[in-house]
Amino acid sequence: GDTGIRTWKHAPTDLRALLGISRFHGDKIFLVYEDEHLTFEEHFRRVATLAGRLIEDYGVTKGDRVAIAMRNYPEWSIAFSAVLACGAVAVPLNAWWTEPELAYGVSDSGAKVLIADGERAVRLLGTGVPLIVVRGEAPAGARTLGDVLGEVRPDVTLPEVDLSPEDPATIFYTSGTTGHPKGALGSHRNLGQSPMTVAYGLMRAVTMAGLDPAQAAAVRRVTLLAVPLFHVTGCFSALTTTMFTGGGLVLMYKWDAGKALRLIERERVTTMIGVPTNAWQLMSHPDFGSHDLSSLTTLGYGGAPAPPKLLERITANLPGRAPSNGYGMTETTALAIGNAGGDYHGRPDSIGRPTAVVDVRVVGPMGAELPPGEVGELCVRGPNVILGYWNKPEATAETFVNGWLHTGDLARIDEEGFVYIVDRAKDMVIRGGENVYCAEVEAALFEHPAVDDVAVIGVPHDELGEEVGAVVRLTPSATATEEELRTFLTGRIAAFKIPEHVWLRDTDLPRNPGGKILKTHLRREILGG
Ligand code: ATP
Ligand code: MG
Repeated sequence: GDTGIRTWKHAPTDLRALLGISRFHGDKIFLVYEDEHLTFEEHFRRVATLAGRLIEDYGVTKGDRVAIAMRNYPEWSIAFSAVLACGAVAVPLNAWWTEPELAYGVSDSGAKVLIADGERAVRLLGTGVPLIVVRGEAPAGARTLGDVLGEVRPDVTLPEVDLSPEDPATIFYTSGTTGHPKGALGSHRNLGQSPMTVAYGLMRAVTMAGLDPAQAAAVRRVTLLAVPLFHVTGCFSALTTTMFTGGGLVLMYKWDAGKALRLIERERVTTMIGVPTNAWQLMSHPDFGSHDLSSLTTLGYGGAPAPPKLLERITANLPGRAPSNGYGMTETTALAIGNAGGDYHGRPDSIGRPTAVVDVRVVGPMGAELPPGEVGELCVRGPNVILGYWNKPEATAETFVNGWLHTGDLARIDEEGFVYIVDRAKDMVIRGGENVYCAEVEAALFEHPAVDDVAVIGVPHDELGEEVGAVVRLTPSATATEEELRTFLTGRIAAFKIPEHVWLRDTDLPRNPGGKILKTHLRREILGG
């Protein structure tokens, strides 16, 4: 049976080692997409063949960048693995990006070759970079993946390349929540540690939730991925982890709660990985009660703040399952801090404790470490912290200081080492010298039954510098007035935190597909400028 965790001494330090491990899983199903099933062996052969072609046909050498722009197709994994297997750097581009955004990613990374699906290929033609097309026709000058691969031989081997764990492996772009996306340059060591960190975290969630770990380990882990592979959660918490553990990974073209329910039943999914919104929508779907979800043991979510009501809902709707909140950033190669299963008892608002490889601390404005309980900037150190930002020496120097990554998140750490995210530093409102954490006001408003979604923003004010504003989407058919909401907050939070401005609406707040509210958009929309 699959133990989920293998011996630590075989810790892979680069993707080639990981591919070697994946080959031992042989004829087991690795990737599932619609009705297609790809085994580990078939995946390996395609990866090795493509790596050879990239070197021979496209002259890709160590350190070259190759961009990947596609939806969650099995070919994403083949392209990603092949690029790394030949010592080049994979640049996963956001498939939702428009033509100019994609062009930015291609020129910023200096990609030598592009591997894209049919939809993206059309948007990339203008870049003039050689293009390999997946699931679509090749426009003039481009080739299809099938044509490039040619015959996939059973005895194909990986090309010879000298790789060290410090060699660059990936450039993932950050979500762009606080500004323009930055290229995060990750090493082979960074990605090599991720499967163990995640596999251990998931096993721990199962144990902490009081489920029988031996029983859980005896079941083959099948993961349903609710989010894109081009963000670190998809690539590392799901894809490379599955290569390592030998489970199955079920891919979706795009998130669809109804379809997710059908897939959980059909593929006997044990683990769903996504953002908090995915877990929430799964349980809200009208078909939720009519599917057999008995195979599901673990619900992993993170990447964005989880609404305070989420955990209660999981406990009520999916009793006996292990929920696991993971905190991570593009700069930490996904998971860095996690609140697994039983850890939640009494601490639903904590993101948990650091993973085995990570050190954390909270620092004040001058960079000095703060005592437990005090709020400051969260810093992270460990083999998962990336090398720096691609082509951005200033941002790199500001963010990576003496081996510590400055996360830009405000947090406190309690006496027992549990971490609490307070707010993003850039989101905090300073009202007449008093700090108001948007996340705290948002959590208080969420408690009101008529509130479906909420975002708190700073509103410029001549005298106070900023006032507090709340944009509230009401639950359909519910009614509440601004005054009612303010009265509701009285006594729950200090008077200076109660929003002076409340905008009620019945339309969705602007969220990116990663589940994060786009406050810059919202500020522009509400305040203009
Ligand atoms: P950019 O850096 O380009 O502005 P981004 O920070 O949103 O975008 P990501 O690297 O995708 O890009 O996201 C990391 C951030 O997401 C963290 O800094 C934190 O603010 C938030 N986050 C991640 N996981 C959690 C979690 N479990 N709980 C609360 N917040 C989280
Ligand atoms: Mg960030």
